[in-house]
Amino acid sequence: MVGIELAAQVTPWLASGRTLFLIIHLLGITSFAYIVARRLVPLLRAEPDLRFDQPLARLGKVLKFGLAQWKHPRYRTAGIIHIFIFAGFICLVLRAFYVLIVGVSENFVMPGLSGEAGHIYNIITDYAATVVFLCMVIAIVRRLVFKPARYAVPEKFGKAHIADAIFLLALIAILMVADSLFAAARAAGQVQQGQSVELLAAWSLPWMLQSLLVSSSLSALKDFYFGAYLLHEVTFYFLLCYRPFGIQFHVETSLFNLYFAKLGRGTLKPVKYGVSDEHLDQVKSFGVKTFEDFTWKHMLDFYSCADCGRCSDNCPANAVGRPLSPRFITIKARDYAFQHYPMFGKPDNHKALIGDIYSEDEIWSCTTCGACEEECPLLVEYIDKVVDLRRGMIDDGNVPQSLQKPLKALESRGNPYGKMEKKRADWVNANDFRQTCQVKTLVGKSKADTLYFVDSVTSYDDRIQSIGRATAKILDHVGEDFGILGAAEKDSGHEVRRFGEETLFMALRDHNAEAIKATGVKRIVTADPHTYNALKHDYKDMPPVEHISQVIASEVKSGKIKFNAVENGNNVYTYHDPCYLGRHNQIYDDPRDVLDAIPGLKRVEMSRSRDRSFCCGGGGLMLFYEPKEEQRMGVKRVQMAAAAGANVIVTACPFCMVNIEDAIKVAGMEGKMTAIDLAELAEQQIARGKPVVKAEQTAEIVAGR
Ligand code: SF4
Ligand code: SF4
Repeated sequence: MVGIELAAQVTPWLASGRTLFLIIHLLGITSFAYIVARRLVPLLRAEPDLRFDQPLARLGKVLKFGLAQWKHPRYRTAGIIHIFIFAGFICLVLRAFYVLIVGVSENFVMPGLSGEAGHIYNIITDYAATVVFLCMVIAIVRRLVFKPARYAVPEKFGKAHIADAIFLLALIAILMVADSLFAAARAAGQVQQGQSVELLAAWSLPWMLQSLLVSSSLSALKDFYFGAYLLHEVTFYFLLCYRPFGIQFHVETSLFNLYFAKLGRGTLKPVKYGVSDEHLDQVKSFGVKTFEDFTWKHMLDFYSCADCGRCSDNCPANAVGRPLSPRFITIKARDYAFQHYPMFGKPDNHKALIGDIYSEDEIWSCTTCGACEEECPLLVEYIDKVVDLRRGMIDDGNVPQSLQKPLKALESRGNPYGKMEKKRADWVNANDFRQTCQVKTLVGKSKADTLYFVDSVTSYDDRIQSIGRATAKILDHVGEDFGILGAAEKDSGHEVRRFGEETLFMALRDHNAEAIKATGVKRIVTADPHTYNALKHDYKDMPPVEHISQVIASEVKSGKIKFNAVENGNNVYTYHDPCYLGRHNQIYDDPRDVLDAIPGLKRVEMSRSRDRSFCCGGGGLMLFYEPKEEQRMGVKRVQMAAAAGANVIVTACPFCMVNIEDAIKVAGMEGKMTAIDLAELAEQQIARGKPVVKAEQTAEIVAGR
């Protein structure tokens, strides 16, 4: 009979099948172990990265993003194909081991899979092999015929990887055919010999192959059987050993990458793990300059990227033709690792990354918006790497011309405009504002419950000061006992840090932290998402911090804020999610709830909103830096708003306001489109009836005074 024993017992050439397969196993496993060991060399020489905490949270990431394939459906066709392939592989894991083992131990039965359970498992795997095969065919056709734009490799980023991708897809298809042919030939042999036939799943690949083979001679079936087994073995080990040379290495590394993924949002990695701020002066070199300055986790990212192009497809810098495409930050680094850490011979890590594989403008082009990280199904990180590369450039004195002045001003005056500290609170002196709202400066004995942290752009930019005044009026309206730091406030340093100037950031942070602590406030409110992110994630031991949109939303719910209906019912509003409020801090609903609470306000969503919001271009000191680009990000955003049918863009960030208002002018849409900050709009619409009782007055009433 043509039985599985034959694979081990047949003597095709000089040695028995068992010996042949044993040799293949040993060669395959040893080669794979050697290749992986060589791939681990750069990781072992890399900078440390503390990713061994919170095992349960990490396991949760593996389950959610790995096993449940959480992010894949964001791209429907490719996502569904991937989910089928992944599910197919999961089903086939045990079968693959079983098939490998029976080549040397013909009587082997997978524990728990004898009898009926084994039969059911075989049916499942027949279908799994069929599905994976079909998915490979579809994926090959998609790549060759439909060619989704995001797979293309622009010339400036290197050579196309299409041939490699197709080759790997074809290898998996061959593996599925070999696996199915093996089962089909065995079943056909059983039919021919009148033995009890192992049922194959109807209309599966093995079932169809069996139907084709059943009339073949017994000796031909034996050849098919042995040939299919040999093909399966060789393809399996070839694939295993070839994968670490290209994009398919993610099959091996991605679950580890998910486990060690970053847990917090909005945070930045320290300059060096294990070195406290106080000891940073002992660090010889800041940031990433050569490949081994990356952390081992960042190198694992390079190996884990599946080259799916989703990050770059969502990157605003890439969309406007800046010289940055996050996918190639990874691919170029992986190619570098493959080239400079060869399979044989010594590693060579002498080249400076900037100038060799990355250009300066490429690294300065990032707004740290986080769209790439939000989209990546394998949680590959970009912002920390970009900031580390910037730290390296700054350490070498490599600062773009246009940023030198604002950085100097931040150092000497605590703001990027170089304006006097004593003018920081001048925005409260506008006549009409002063008459309606008094803002305390929290110095000396002047105390308050809440600090309104204003930050530089709102303090000094004439247009943006209006957001500051609106914020103060809202806090005043709801009876909040609040004040500002005035001249004692310096820039929060959020952009400075993301620009890579860690030492300057630390000086600003320490100054502000001391000033905030001296006020004794119980909470901090800000209207600037960058400030919010800095105080929440970059500073330590601060009182709770809230964005003004959260305050308004909660006071709308409490009934302290009621809105008048909009005057012009023809206006259509759309909300632009600022990156540091939305993606980095997950505040999506509060601003929308506020807008929806305004009677008569018509609101539409842009095609890219919430976690897919499109950056206005303002993050990471970009107000002072003009990278090469074909179009402004803000212009693209304004066009998206127009396409959604809106004529008013509401945002909740001073940086967005600067960029969007500017973009409206550049796009020639003045008169057709306007922009307003959420705080400005809310303040304008507040129904001011009976004065709301202030917090301290309430306390007095409660105490019966
Ligand atoms: S953070 Fe934003 S700008 Fe930077 S690479 Fe990612 S998507 Fe592009
Ligand atoms: S980094 Fe992530 S999203 Fe970007 S190409 Fe790689 S796997 Fe795809």
